[in-house]
Amino acid sequence: MFDRSRRRLLTRRSKPEQQRLPWMVNDDIFTDGCTRCGKCAAACETQIIIHGDGGFPEVDFKRGECTFCYRCADVCPEPLFHPQTTPAWAMVAEIGEGCLAYQHVECRSCGDMCETQAIRFRLQPGGVAQPELEATNCTGCGACVSVCPTSAITVVNPKNKES
Ligand code: SF4
Ligand code: SF4
Ligand code: SF4
Repeated sequence: MFDRSRRRLLTRRSKPEQQRLPWMVNDDIFTDGCTRCGKCAAACETQIIIHGDGGFPEVDFKRGECTFCYRCADVCPEPLFHPQTTPAWAMVAEIGEGCLAYQHVECRSCGDMCETQAIRFRLQPGGVAQPELEATNCTGCGACVSVCPTSAITVVNPKNKES
């Protein structure tokens, strides 16, 4: 039997607020209960679930987007996910300083990928249009992440950005 407190010590994330998977219960309960069986990764329709911190599953948006299909939660044999009727998560995209448009280079790749139009471009007189994220429209699907040529976009929990 693996000692629980030791398991936590080995697996606790430096940023536990970043949800590993949609609909996931909190990180402590998840790392206590997840057996790392890999069923969620095998079931993911976009194949974005990888072995993350401590070998636990987590989404990697560099591989693609989450379609919120709920397969990862459905296939999990442990009680580690909230019902599909609840919000998947609070995660939203964040555009970092590496954005080409911020360096006055034309690019709208992220906006083109965003189904909910959470990223819009504001025209600048005589300049390059700048991206603006409307967080309330962002589902945290991550579709904008892999298309960004400078890897400027991350998906974060806005409530914990300062921690
Ligand atoms: S909800 Fe679907 S697409 Fe998203 S991580 Fe789970 S299995 Fe993959
Ligand atoms: S795809 Fe990346 S570089 Fe292009 S506008 Fe969006 S954040 Fe900026
Ligand atoms: S995470 Fe999804 S919804 Fe949010 S800005 Fe990116 S593409 Fe749009």
